[in-house]
Amino acid sequence: MRELLRENIATLKPYSCARNDFTGEAEVYLDANENWQEFVGREDVNRYPDPLAAMVRKALEEVLGLPFDQTIIGNGSDELIDNLFRCFCRPGKDSVLLMPPTYGAYRVFADINDVIVKTVPLTPHFQLDLPALKRCLAEEKASRTNEARLKLLFICSPNNPSGNAFPLDEVRTICSLFDGIVVVDEAYFDFSSQASAVSLLGEFENLVVLRTLSKCWALASARVGVAIASKEIIAVLRSMKYPYNVGGPSQDIALKALKQAQRVKQGLALIKEERARLRTELAQVDCVVQVFDSDANFFLVRVTDAPSIYHYLLGKGIIVRNRSKEMHCENCLRITIGSKQENDVLLSALKEYEHA
Ligand code: PMP
Repeated sequence: MRELLRENIATLKPYSCARNDFTGEAEVYLDANENWQEFVGREDVNRYPDPLAAMVRKALEEVLGLPFDQTIIGNGSDELIDNLFRCFCRPGKDSVLLMPPTYGAYRVFADINDVIVKTVPLTPHFQLDLPALKRCLAEEKASRTNEARLKLLFICSPNNPSGNAFPLDEVRTICSLFDGIVVVDEAYFDFSSQASAVSLLGEFENLVVLRTLSKCWALASARVGVAIASKEIIAVLRSMKYPYNVGGPSQDIALKALKQAQRVKQGLALIKEERARLRTELAQVDCVVQVFDSDANFFLVRVTDAPSIYHYLLGKGIIVRNRSKEMHCENCLRITIGSKQENDVLLSALKEYEHA
């Protein structure tokens, strides 16, 4: 791992914030230049939060089995993705491997960090193309120099926007093929029946798994994401993050949600039920050509004319995502599974489109 790190990160002397120096209980806190007063009707916002979100991580260990000393909390998993680029990729030199169509932010963060993007597209059925990946990795290894190296590889499983999860065996194969950092983004993991890549952490030191509370845990606005990795990688991510990257109210609300695991499980069952119903119903709509299998809380749907249907739905106040310009996604819309009522509104609008 050390040889993959940017030199400036490997030798970084991290910022030490007041709450790093003292973590116990004290009577008088005069160490962090806070204001003791309270103006907004809550007492939990005038002090800086725990920089390492220990209570949230404890709850993640208890509820989801994510090992306490191998996790870091991010301001959404987006922050953790960006931080991985900043830790490992030398701007203007190193590269990342993406497998389109996939989550668009990977490329944006690569561009922001001036990281070169290499691609091995998924097959037209949105499966991993392992032979092409093997060739690409072998070529990169052969042509690698001290000044340019492939450092990161992202696997999004279940994949956004196609919705399918990849077999864990194939993820394992990629971890053993690639000598850089493999990032498995499991933002939609809860909706899938595929096993988690967290189970591979004992086998591979080059693996980072990402989770988020934005989806199944219904906390998109709280901005709480998690990376799970070797203690060495976690130590690096901790050393370079913003000192107080996740606010106290967000940590609080995350804790509250994790205490409601039973209710969240029921909510998940509801979404899965709606997923089955929506799939059947969508398949019967005339303007729907194909509904792709989904292990997530959305469907990629091929329609007769995506731009036209997108604008038609927009006119009816129904917002979906037009993914037509993504690789292998011609005439495809990405549709989130909403409440029963929302899904019914969508279905009747789509049925009316046929007659519009
Ligand atoms: N990964 C994937 C695959 C996503 O689709 C998203 C959000 N749409 C994220 C990560 C980011 O999630 P957050 O920052 O809310 O944790």
